[in-house]
Amino acid sequence: MKKHNFYAGPSILPQETIKATAEAVLDFAGTGLSILEISHRSKEFQAVMDEAQALFKELLDIPSGYEVVFLGGGASLQFSMVPFNLLNKKAAYLNTGTWANKALKEAKAFGEAVEIASSKDANYTFIPKGFEAKVPADAEYLHITTNNTIYGTELHSDPIVNVPLVADMSSDIFSRPVDVSKYSIIYGGAQKNLAPAGLTFAIVKVDALGKVERHIPTMLDYRTHIDKGSMFNTPPVVAVYGALQTLRWLKGKGGVAAMQQINERKALKLYDEIDRNKLFHGTVTDTADRSYMNICFVMNDEYKELEADFLKFATEQGMVGIKGHRSVGGFRASTYNALPEESVDALIEVMKTFEKNH
Ligand SMILES: *Cc1c(COP(=O)(O)O)cnc(C)c1O
Repeated sequence: MKKHNFYAGPSILPQETIKATAEAVLDFAGTGLSILEISHRSKEFQAVMDEAQALFKELLDIPSGYEVVFLGGGASLQFSMVPFNLLNKKAAYLNTGTWANKALKEAKAFGEAVEIASSKDANYTFIPKGFEAKVPADAEYLHITTNNTIYGTELHSDPIVNVPLVADMSSDIFSRPVDVSKYSIIYGGAQKNLAPAGLTFAIVKVDALGKVERHIPTMLDYRTHIDKGSMFNTPPVVAVYGALQTLRWLKGKGGVAAMQQINERKALKLYDEIDRNKLFHGTVTDTADRSYMNICFVMNDEYKELEADFLKFATEQGMVGIKGHRSVGGFRASTYNALPEESVDALIEVMKTFEKNH
């Protein structure tokens, strides 16, 4: 039976990415060698790196003065790498979920990290409103998490504030257009919407660097990776190759503007069903904050005892990865770029059938 992959991360990738990577495992770029065993300094891999960085810039319309670097350590290492490189005295943090909270916690070791607003007391079921006005004028940046993967909330546009932005875009990068010129750094783990696990990306405004007094360890200094074209040390070769295939696929689909329309359509039809179906409700309290990438829903109280049955039924129908994160419970359907609309349709059918049966 066809599987519908709703995992939150690592998560679904385009079939094109998987096939091209499988082929490159056997013979990479006609070299007669596998991508698993080739030097990252070979001219064939250098071409992969160059094209991946160029497509990043093209597809996100990244202005000059910015560089794209490919790193290790996950988005989690960026939680400290960002303040290491940018935070002298004060930075503002918007606390919208587990990941945002972890970023805030790391920043506190480097300077005054001000939590300007938080929805923690409400289990992050909404994005705090009016936070823009609470950013201290002397903050060096405002850190946001544009999509809260665990709680299913999303900032659907770039906030308008008077300080540079820094964003964790792990789970919505390339899902919509972004005005990169407002950001000092955009970073994320690539395993949600771009590539197999092992790759971290950062889009860095070069001018924002070099302004802190502290010594930065070589590997944690963005300038190291910019200067060496992400080849200061060995990059995650296979994951970079996978990212390139996804970026080519994305370009073929019409880029991020086209993707935004498809994502919105997919998400809204699933939310419509959640709202219509008597068994379920969405967990996000402010519908404007509903994520187009991670759709969280639970069983209504009077049907709570059916939760395990629904999960079993959905699994039998080919739905994979819809169990909610333990901090929210219920269900989470991740509808990343590569998830075909037919998978959303299939999940909706399963919800309708289950409702009929009960
Ligand atoms: C998954 C995720 C992370 C953690 O990423 P790692 O690469 O595992 O460190 C951080 N932030 C967000 C928004 C995520 O979705």
